[in-house]
Amino acid sequence: MKSAPPFFALRANTMNACSPKRESIAIAQQTWVCTEGPHPKPNAQIVDVWLQERTPPDRPLNFLMLGGVPLVHRELLSLLGEDNIERDLYVGRVFGRGDKLLEDWVTARGRRRVILRGVKEASYRLCPDCGRILYSSHDDCYLFPAPPPETAIFESSLFGLVVTREIGERVLAEKRARKWRRIAIDPLQILDPPPDGFGVLPGTERGFQ
Ligand SMILES: [Zn+2]
Repeated sequence: MKSAPPFFALRANTMNACSPKRESIAIAQQTWVCTEGPHPKPNAQIVDVWLQERTPPDRPLNFLMLGGVPLVHRELLSLLGEDNIERDLYVGRVFGRGDKLLEDWVTARGRRRVILRGVKEASYRLCPDCGRILYSSHDDCYLFPAPPPETAIFESSLFGLVVTREIGERVLAEKRARKWRRIAIDPLQILDPPPDGFGVLPGTERGFQ
């Protein structure tokens, strides 16, 4: 029998990811988004974003097509636990069309970021600009090595969040109650050794980057 998963991945199961307002792209490139690809620079912390949309269409989790920044509705944020949010996340503002501050949405970036690893067509490379690991596979479904127990919420390498089982089960119950269709909540095991054959990826000895 499989043991209960220690973590869950929360992913935006949306066909309507949000577009950055055109004027905000150059500013983002000067500050927090890596010029080599769609990922935040390693030293980026709180990120405020400006959308072309009036509001993110799919709740409670969406993401910005620039940098893959997770956009979290307060209905989901409220399930994560105030202490966890304070300790583990950088929470920023979301502005909709016409630069209107959207009170119900925030950007939520993890202070620590985990890589969702897979098996099929798995590969990785180092970003030539910022050195971050860029990993891809067709079936991202496990972690390695185990992330540290003192963190409850991580940013995932796939534009979402990774949370402990306790939080994941709370979000699952709320997904059923509220009929959220556009959030996927997938169990994550720690697989040792990792079946992609890469061992510990450079810079992830502590389970995150
Ligand atoms: Zn980079």
